[in-house]
Amino acid sequence: MEHVLGLGCMICGRQYRPDEVAYVCPHHGDEGILDVQYDYDRIARTIDRAGLAAERDFSMWRYRPLLPVAADAAVPPLAVGWTPLYPAGRLGRELGLQRLWVKDDGRQPTASLKDRASALAVVKAREQNAPVITTASTGNAAAALSGLCAAVSQPNVIFVPANAPEAKITQLLVFGSRVLLVDGTYDDAFELCLKAARTHGWYNRNTGYNPYMTEGKKTVVFEICEQLGWQAPDRIFVSVGDGCIIGGLHKGLKDLMALGWIDTMPKLMGVQAAGSSYLYQAWQDNEDVLTKPPVTAVTVADSISAGLPRDRIKAMAAVKETGGAFVRVTDEQILAAIPALARATGVFAEPAGAAAYAGLVKAVAQGQIDGAEAVVVLNTGSGLKDVSGAMKAMAQDGTQGEKIAPEPGLLKLET
Ligand SMILES: *Cc1c(COP(=O)(O)O)cnc(C)c1O
Ligand SMILES: [Zn+2]
Repeated sequence: MEHVLGLGCMICGRQYRPDEVAYVCPHHGDEGILDVQYDYDRIARTIDRAGLAAERDFSMWRYRPLLPVAADAAVPPLAVGWTPLYPAGRLGRELGLQRLWVKDDGRQPTASLKDRASALAVVKAREQNAPVITTASTGNAAAALSGLCAAVSQPNVIFVPANAPEAKITQLLVFGSRVLLVDGTYDDAFELCLKAARTHGWYNRNTGYNPYMTEGKKTVVFEICEQLGWQAPDRIFVSVGDGCIIGGLHKGLKDLMALGWIDTMPKLMGVQAAGSSYLYQAWQDNEDVLTKPPVTAVTVADSISAGLPRDRIKAMAAVKETGGAFVRVTDEQILAAIPALARATGVFAEPAGAAAYAGLVKAVAQGQIDGAEAVVVLNTGSGLKDVSGAMKAMAQDGTQGEKIAPEPGLLKLET
């Protein structure tokens, strides 16, 4: 893996060889998030845009030379990545935007963007012959790990808050994971999982802890740029919980800038739920995320409920360094965004996915966006992940099915 130069601490900048540290900077404990650093000259000799245009592997692994894995590493057989980027003209016109796209990562094997990170976790764990992989999760990272492990018969243990949506917990059980339902919050589950991994020597996939998860997630922005013919959009809207996805977008864009494959850096727009808006608050008040204490997190968008965003350093850098912004939306706005997005594009998002669109609506209303900008909204998870969330959205929307008797004579429907 000569293309990986090392791992750099996001706090102190110390550099480590990949075999020198397990997950975090030893000088900064659990907060010492590392960033994978590459030799771009070497990478540029093995992959280019023309080669990609001819590449028949329509999965995240088409970008393998830009990922921290060996050229010949076996990858899980589930088809992760290369999700559709839909032009959303009608939705754009409603908002006065001329160029709008929706990238639909609800179309992943386990129905969320987390598959990108979990696929990479499985490869890294196998490098070390780890007996077990573990993670804590609000649901989707767990489901992703669960499904990807099932695909390669890898034992795994999942820590999930007992109040996670039933569909998400069921998904774990279906895939055959060992599921530990923590009577507490996601933050409690996270701490417990870190301890378990240390005690038992399990491979730790935790977000904002394992430096490779950002690397898996960055593949979504490689796809967005490739699907747009290597014309980077002006802005990307993404919902933010722990901040790993937005950090991944930033990392992927920096990779593409370093390679000279795109010329401009899109502004990253991080959308948070009003009830879980640690990063929004820190950004707004210019607070230091290393010292800001956790907030209480309550939102209908369970996937972005995080009292102490684990990847807050990378998330803050993503917004600040790209000249983007954090946007805060209420649960009501998130629920309203589910049918609005679905009816104009056919993309059914879970609350956290729809939140990205709610953030766009709000940013437009606040006059933050020019109508000529190229804008991408990233849907991070399928609506089928959280049917009770969608039911709340429909109750708020007021639409219902209409009961009719099974008699054709009574059919006087207007369409
Ligand atoms: C995990 C997740 C997010 C947020 O990602 P972070 O890396 O935690 O910020 C958003 N939407 C969905 C559907 C998710 O599963
Ligand atoms: Zn450090």
